[in-house]
Amino acid sequence: MSQQVDNIKPSYPLFREDDYKESLINKKASFEEAHSQELIDETFMWTTTEEYKDLNFQREALTVNPAKACQPLGAVLCALGFEKTMPYVHGSQGCVAYFRTYFNRHFKEPIACVSDSMTEDAAVFGGQQNMKDGLENCKAIYKPDVIAVSTTCMAEVIGDDLNAFINNSKKAGHIPDDYPVPYAHTPSFVGSHVTGWDNMFEGMARYFTLNHMEDKVVASNGKINIVPGFETYLGNFRVIKRMLKEMDVDYTMLSDPEEVLDTPADGQFRMYSGGTTQDEIKDAPNAITTFMLQPWHLVKSTKFAETTWKHAVPKLKIPMGLDWTDEFLMKVSEVTGQEISESLTKERGRLVDMMTDSHTWLHGKKFALWGDPDYVMGMSKFLLELGAEPTHILCNNGNKRWKKAMDAILAESPYGANCEVHIGKDLWHMRSLVFTNKPDFMIGNSYGKFIQRDTLYKGVEFEVPLIRIGFPIFDRHHLHRQTTLGYEGAMQILTTLVNAVLERLDDETRGMQTTDYNYDLVR
Ligand code: SF4
Repeated sequence: MSQQVDNIKPSYPLFREDDYKESLINKKASFEEAHSQELIDETFMWTTTEEYKDLNFQREALTVNPAKACQPLGAVLCALGFEKTMPYVHGSQGCVAYFRTYFNRHFKEPIACVSDSMTEDAAVFGGQQNMKDGLENCKAIYKPDVIAVSTTCMAEVIGDDLNAFINNSKKAGHIPDDYPVPYAHTPSFVGSHVTGWDNMFEGMARYFTLNHMEDKVVASNGKINIVPGFETYLGNFRVIKRMLKEMDVDYTMLSDPEEVLDTPADGQFRMYSGGTTQDEIKDAPNAITTFMLQPWHLVKSTKFAETTWKHAVPKLKIPMGLDWTDEFLMKVSEVTGQEISESLTKERGRLVDMMTDSHTWLHGKKFALWGDPDYVMGMSKFLLELGAEPTHILCNNGNKRWKKAMDAILAESPYGANCEVHIGKDLWHMRSLVFTNKPDFMIGNSYGKFIQRDTLYKGVEFEVPLIRIGFPIFDRHHLHRQTTLGYEGAMQILTTLVNAVLERLDDETRGMQTTDYNYDLVR
């Protein structure tokens, strides 16, 4: 055997040794009852055709690789952004294991989150007893200051009433009467993880402010509120704070998981770290206004800030790229009376300089991209600013209004002329799109690597490389620390994109005495 105790090899390259190759061939022949390679290849080729694409787009009863997650996952991320708050999911244990591993794999951090482990009996008789025991145990074992409750499908299908269950748990003495337990119903069969974030935020705001508005006065604390929405780039929390600091603007970040998702390895485990305090969320109505960084999914949060807090929420887009960062900073300046700092003006100039330096390489390059509504819109806008051509835009959790707005943005630029926008579609649809109308690159989460592999299997000239920007990213490290918002984010995205183009060009032109006439040292 090629595996030796003093030279342990991982699966790659171990399985490329002759004895393993032979063993795998024998396994296939003896046990798998596999179709012939010819039939597999014939079927594979058919799945790359226009004919298959048309059938694929008629698909109704099946989702393959959905390009979204479910509501409670978003609710958990929102809750993690509050100080000493334990996300608590009323429902099945397996769902919560999935949320934890999803975030674990993306952030490479332990993620605190509990469930009350509903099983068959709770599904039949209701989960009230689970809630009573769960809240009591959670408080006793993990000692949070707040427990933020959301729900899984199971609890929603049987119609469990969180408000009643939490109140009954308090009445029965499982947790003190005044113990904070904000909650949100997060049914997974509607919306997506971004809806869950929005619902949980509204639940937090409702719990801490709705019945305490009598002494609140808009603008009395001189701050602005920032609501980030479902945000997985830690650099984005940092860049927003930095920009506001440079403008001398006092702010409150409402849901701030930057610390807890990035704790240092210094010998001390931190189940809780940083986050928005209870005092800060209680004080939020006293702010000048509230900036919703991802307005397309912060629907309930916006409504709550407008109707309960009486805030004139600015109608802005996500601050990605040049124009929309300009708009964000100008609005901050307008509402706070603080000037945009010289440092930010200089930073903007540097971004414009970078865009000019790189535009020859990005001009006309075609990109397919997918992700959440605000991010996809911001990324598409920035691609247009760079002179790149978004070719396929796919947003599973975008609605018809979002598509209309996206189409209008594309129509404003000649680079958007050949783009198609797809909502409610999945990554198996995206696979058909890149086979039938090949872009130069895909921009998306780790799941795109399977599409890249398939395109390469068809032939090297069909390969569409994946640029990993989005959520989740499981198979590369530390990208979640990067920044996509503000001028800094635009610089990082631009650097990633242009160097992907140059890497690809080098790949294609390193053939000795064949293609290396363009294998240049200076680009
Ligand atoms: S979709 Fe429903 S069953 Fe699946 S993980 Fe989400 S809550 Fe659980």
